[in-house]
Formats: sequence, structure tokens, C-alpha cells
Amino acid sequence: MREGIHPKYQQAKVTCNCGNEFVTGSTKKEIHVEVCSKCHPFYTGQQKAISARGAIDKFNRKYGFTK
Ligand SMILES: [Zn+2]
Repeated sequence: MREGIHPKYQQAKVTCNCGNEFVTGSTKKEIHVEVCSKCHPFYTGQQKAISARGAIDKFNRKYGFTK
């Protein structure tokens, strides 16, 4: 294994649009993201709940359940 091929892995400061900041390992020094684990619907569980409800509605319609 030769040296100098892989970029240096270091601590990177990640700044999110919501204002949250956290540190992660990256080859970049600073990262700016639009969503993070604090504000992303996927992580907050909101989107999951919405899609789950949509699946139930679809199921109910398909089989003629009104409730
Ligand atoms: Zn965020």
C-alpha cells in the first residue's frame, strides 16, 4: 500500500441550514448541508409517519374500507 493516494481523513465541521453544527469524519475540512439528523424529516420520523398513514389509506381504499 503506497502512501499519498488516499486523501487525509480528518475531523470536519458540518454546518446545517437549520443552524445545527456537528463534527464528523471527512476528507473535507468544512461541510455545509441543507438537512441534518436534527431537521431532516426522515430522522425526525415525521415523513415515516406520513408515508405509513398514506399506505394505510391506500390499503383501505383498495379493499373498500372506509374507516
Ligand atoms: Zn439541520
